[in-house]
Amino acid sequence: MRVLITGGAGFLGSHLCDRLIEQGNKVICLDNFYTGSKQNIDKHNSNPNFEAICHDVVDPYNLEVDQIYNLACPASPVHYQYDPIKTIRTSVLGAINALELSRRIDARVLQASTSEVYGDPEVHPQSEDYRGNVNIIGPRACYDEGKRCAETLFFDYHRKNKVDIRVVRIFNTYGPRMMIDDGRVVSNFIIQALRGKNITVYGDGNQTRSFCYVDDLIESMIRMMNQEGVIGPINTGNHHEFTVLQLAKKVVDLTNSKSKIIFEDLPVDDPMQRKPDNTLALKALNWEPRVQLDEGLKKTIQYFESVL
Ligand code: NAD
Ligand code: UDP
Repeated sequence: MRVLITGGAGFLGSHLCDRLIEQGNKVICLDNFYTGSKQNIDKHNSNPNFEAICHDVVDPYNLEVDQIYNLACPASPVHYQYDPIKTIRTSVLGAINALELSRRIDARVLQASTSEVYGDPEVHPQSEDYRGNVNIIGPRACYDEGKRCAETLFFDYHRKNKVDIRVVRIFNTYGPRMMIDDGRVVSNFIIQALRGKNITVYGDGNQTRSFCYVDDLIESMIRMMNQEGVIGPINTGNHHEFTVLQLAKKVVDLTNSKSKIIFEDLPVDDPMQRKPDNTLALKALNWEPRVQLDEGLKKTIQYFESVL
């Protein structure tokens, strides 16, 4: 199978490259290296089954492949809010360009959507039929509304042009290869703990998230791509819910750090609770996460120890 991964040099994309190459596929990684890194894909450079192309997905592209995973988009609030208009362009034009290519060459295309389509949810846990609570004009909207519009485009291309689509809504995922300056909570806390710096909990730390280890997430995406008769959207994430303060304490314990936990302002529109209802993923993909938080954190800590 020839597989294109947009955003293939990023955190999730590079793990997806690894797994698809291991499975014997020919992989093309398309990335503008905004938040991705050449180091993430270095090890495949001399592999004839791998090709990396530097390209921005807001501009159309032409390739011959069987499947497209559309991951190109910064995912950390720090990076997607740095240039919000670019973020919307990446989500929306990136979706159109992936869908146009799929339509032309008859390839199946999977969209990496997000739990952020639910915004600051008033329904808990979030199931796929919940329509969300997004502040349309807030600082997170460039990402949330961009991803919502991308889902709309996927379903319109499916209805109008019979494009073979898959949509997964990914909940907070962490693991090795998150960038040191990524800004998301798991990497921030681990790096702060390993450097003996203060652990910065935003707000009172009672907001919740459900953290999925990267290997589990990649498995769910590949299953979704290859499952017949299911187009989604499907939630993929870990359903064990933790407060941010619980996470901070766990990281301090697991790293034996002397870091102090401090409290800083909560960012605007920060969702207060988040946990996927995974019923559909279990039923349609026979998928559920296997790696629990302590185990995943230990592996991620080991990785950051080696990097720092
Ligand atoms: P990441 O920032 O590590 O990876 C994104 C990749 O896309 C990077 O390699 C970046 O350089 C590339 N990119 C960004 N803009 C681009 C553009 N205009 N053209 C070409 N390439 C571009 O983030 P990630 O965590 O690996 O996330 C990957 C995808 O999964 C994103 O679409 C994100 O929205 C989605 N997602 C991730 C999570 C998570 O917790 N990791 C949760 C929900 C959704
Ligand atoms: N957070 C925090 N300290 C940090 C980074 C993040 O307390 O150094 C909080 C953030 O306010 C949010 C949660 O951790 O409540 C998850 O943030 P992240 O940026 O990882 O992802 P989000 O789920 O908000 O997109």
